[in-house]
Amino acid sequence: MARLGLGLIGSGFMGMTHAFGFATAQKVFSLPFDVDFALVADVTQDQAEAARRKFGFARASDDWRALISDPQVDLVDITAPNAFHREMALEAIAAGKHVYCEKPLAPLAAEALEMAEAAESAGVRTQVGFNYLCNPMMTLARAMITAGELGEIRSYRGIHAEDYMRDATAPLTWRHDPAGGGALADLGSHALATAEFLLGPIAGVFGNCRTMISARPGPDGTPRPVEVDDVSQALLRFTSGATGSIEANWIATGRKMQHDFEVYGSKGALVFTQERLNELRYYGPSDTPGRDGFRTILAGPEHPPYGDFCVAPGHQLGFNDLKAIEIRGFLEAIAGNCDEPFGFRAGHRIQSLVETIQQSAAREQWLAT
Ligand code: NAD
Repeated sequence: MARLGLGLIGSGFMGMTHAFGFATAQKVFSLPFDVDFALVADVTQDQAEAARRKFGFARASDDWRALISDPQVDLVDITAPNAFHREMALEAIAAGKHVYCEKPLAPLAAEALEMAEAAESAGVRTQVGFNYLCNPMMTLARAMITAGELGEIRSYRGIHAEDYMRDATAPLTWRHDPAGGGALADLGSHALATAEFLLGPIAGVFGNCRTMISARPGPDGTPRPVEVDDVSQALLRFTSGATGSIEANWIATGRKMQHDFEVYGSKGALVFTQERLNELRYYGPSDTPGRDGFRTILAGPEHPPYGDFCVAPGHQLGFNDLKAIEIRGFLEAIAGNCDEPFGFRAGHRIQSLVETIQQSAAREQWLAT
């Protein structure tokens, strides 16, 4: 089988999820490549070495440029903070490597477009980390909507709320970088990707972006102003005629993973929460008086690719498994067996929606996307 050398940049939260995803994908799917865990890079040699041992890479480096130019690396996987995505991806593309980059693709939509065009000119394959779209229950929801099982889709409600920024005394992080930071870019990008995955293109937005914690301790402990949003909402008009909204919120006290959606059609409805990612709640009217209500569809082997992980229904997939599914799709695209599931062009679309919502909020008016 053809070998594909993996170079992973960054070994934090997502670095580990990607390493887990590649290892799992090799175990549960028949992949077109034998993935070789060639090289991992982080800021210091100690961090990189710790990741090498833990994740099972052959070598470690404190120099991401050396990783990109390494002849053993065919696929550059970027899980470093957002501000590095553009520079790292462009260098990898110039070196003729396939690129897997975490969301949001770049701080600015113009940069994301530059990255997409560079990849297309170079003929390399790309993937952006929108793993929630890889959930078999998400695929099922889209199939039910597309098949007309809910009738005409009238309205949509999406939210991605967590509470990891609720402590006002916690210091500034790279997620507060005015270039590409904020709750809308960090979490809203997922909510927007899900909205378009399910209902198709968003035609117009009206945004409301708010900073609720106006200052946080900087690196020296003294208060620094926060310039990015903590909470954003957007009203949405879909090209299909449906109306809707999304919210991104990283100070939603008590919420850990409320990446949820609700879809209401003329004949039925769907309700989903990522905190119960193996369940899709479906409403279809009952002819029996007193029996009306939602019922829960539990993920099982009838919902591909659940069956590759487990032959028994109801035993449940997890967050990391969604990365394995995302990676399988990307490797099939590199092998030429399918289109890129969510390439840089799609990543640019999401970043452009984020920026249009920010501009709409600043101008306090509806904007076309
Ligand atoms: P993190 O802070 O946990 O990890 C970032 C890693 O990058 C750290 O190991 C850090 O040392 C390393 N790094 C920083 N600068 C570097 C450099 N110059 N060279 C090499 N390594 C460097 O952050 P995270 O939560 O893993 O987020 C990373 C990316 O993943 C972000 O773009 C974020 O938006 C995205 N993310 C995606 C999801 C998802 O569900 N798809 C979830 C969380 C984060």
